[in-house]
Amino acid sequence: MKIPLSKPYIKEEDINAVIEVLRSGHLSLGPKLVEFEENFAKYLGVKHAIAVNSGTSGLHLIVKSLGLKEGDEVITTPFSFIASSNCILFEGAKVVFVDIDKETYNMDPKKIEAAITPRTKAIIPVHVFGEMCDMEPIMEIAKKYNLKVIEDSCEAIGAKYKNKFAGTFGEASVFAFYPNKQMTTGEGGMIVTNDDTVASLCKSYRNQGRDTMAWLGHSRIGYNYRLDEMSCALGVEQLKKIDTILALRKKVAEKYTKKLLEESTDLTFSNTPAGNEKSWFVFIIQLKDHVDRNKVIEYLKEKEIASNVYFPSIHLQDFYTKEFGFKVGDFPVSEEISKRTLALPFYSEMIDEEINYVCGNVLEAINESKK
Ligand SMILES: *Cc1c(COP(=O)(O)O)cnc(C)c1O
Repeated sequence: MKIPLSKPYIKEEDINAVIEVLRSGHLSLGPKLVEFEENFAKYLGVKHAIAVNSGTSGLHLIVKSLGLKEGDEVITTPFSFIASSNCILFEGAKVVFVDIDKETYNMDPKKIEAAITPRTKAIIPVHVFGEMCDMEPIMEIAKKYNLKVIEDSCEAIGAKYKNKFAGTFGEASVFAFYPNKQMTTGEGGMIVTNDDTVASLCKSYRNQGRDTMAWLGHSRIGYNYRLDEMSCALGVEQLKKIDTILALRKKVAEKYTKKLLEESTDLTFSNTPAGNEKSWFVFIIQLKDHVDRNKVIEYLKEKEIASNVYFPSIHLQDFYTKEFGFKVGDFPVSEEISKRTLALPFYSEMIDEEINYVCGNVLEAINESKK
């Protein structure tokens, strides 16, 4: 049985919505963009939603709209997908990492204050794997030092911290819709904010620096980060069933967790703190020290079961060590978690037979891979 790492949840209505756009002939900057943004803003209860062509583009535009620039420092986590710290570099600001909490894999709020200098301007908490960061202390620190907060919610649509949605805490936030995310538009992302200035700047920057629809009037340097109508139509349909998607994923995760915990003491999982509602993005196991992860990956590969190392720590990526001098030992918790975590196949419609097949092979793989 061949099992992929992820699979989008695509139904007839999704396909029909895209075909309808193609038949209409209106392929960009049309009614589907407006509908997707309005519905998304309503879902989260925020004032503005601005669709862009990727999560990375969204992060970049928020950083730019908040005026972060060379000489500024921005605090973020080394345990994430690289875009959450690259977006700081795009505008020439300095990335300052703080280490993570070993239970949640998220930025540890207790370590933030020691990293603050007079140049610190913002914090980018990342809700890793759909688990929300401890937002109360983060927002308190931000207030005390007058820092902006940009939530990277790319993996956390629908997640909640004390009954409040991911993406509704800071100045602005971004969601992502790559095909492995909970909902997809192919490529795509969504900026959300309650700040009118940030919203209008992001709209202008995504559309070549235009302020109005005058096609050849450009008020500032901008980009083409627009999201086309086919993607927006898909987004509208996917958002309609987001509650179903999240419930399905939660079920799959529960089955996985139960089965693996019942049958193995060689692995653990991250913890969801009380008050958090996790949005399941990927399914991650943490192998104990005596298990050789590479062997597990190889074993699974032979059985045609995909798996992947989520996440290598960003500060140890080649370009970060060469350019900025980060080294092994700088963020020991992140490094330790990076060494031991493994993403297993995970998608909304994963059936029991597939879950059991993966679990059986994971247990076998672990038994074959003890050091
Ligand atoms: C997916 C993701 C992004 C954005 O990815 P794109 O591929 O640009 O849409 C950003 N940050 C995190 C943490 C992500 O997982």
